[in-house]
Amino acid sequence: MERTLVILKPSAVQRGLIGEIISRFERKGLQLVGLKMIRLTDEVLNEHYAHLSDRPFFARIKQSMQASPVVVCCWQGLDCVQIVRSMTGATNGRNALPGTIRGDYSVSTQENIVHTSDSVENAAIELSRFFDETELLDYAFSADNFLYAADEK
Ligand code: ADP
Repeated sequence: MERTLVILKPSAVQRGLIGEIISRFERKGLQLVGLKMIRLTDEVLNEHYAHLSDRPFFARIKQSMQASPVVVCCWQGLDCVQIVRSMTGATNGRNALPGTIRGDYSVSTQENIVHTSDSVENAAIELSRFFDETELLDYAFSADNFLYAADEK
C-alpha cells in the first residue's frame, strides 16, 4: 500500500476546515496512519519549498505557512499518492475544478488549503521530513474487505 503526505495549511486551520478535509479522505476509503498539529519552522520550509526558493513569492509563502499551526497527516491506500493529488485540484484555487478540495474551498494560489505530495518518490521524502518512523502506525483496517477486492490488495 502507498502512503502520502497531506498538510492542512493555515488557510484550512483558520477557516475551520480541518474536519471537513480529513472527512473527505476518510470517505474516499483511505486509511489515516499519522496525524499531528505542528508549527512549521524556517528550516523545514526552506527544505520543503526548495524548488520555489528563487521565486519572488518565496518569503510570502513561508510567512503564510507559519501564520498558524498546521495539521500534517499521512494517508495510506492503493495508489494513494495519485488519488490524493487528484482530490486536491490545481494549485490556483480559481482554476481548480469543483469537487476538488481547492476547487471547493479556495479562490487563491497561495491560500490553497492543502499541500499534497506530487509523486511516490516525493511522498516518501516528505513523510520522513514531517514524521518520525514511530509516528506512522501500522494497524489492521477493518474496512479493507469492503474497500478492495481480494486480488487488489
Ligand atoms: P502544489 O502545491 O500544487 O504542488 P507548487 O509546488 O508549485 O504547487 O507550489 C507550492 C505552493 O506554493 C502552492 O501550493 C502555493 O501555496 C504556493 N505558490 C505557488 N505558486 C505561487 C504564486 N505564484 N504565488 C503565491 N503562492 C504560490
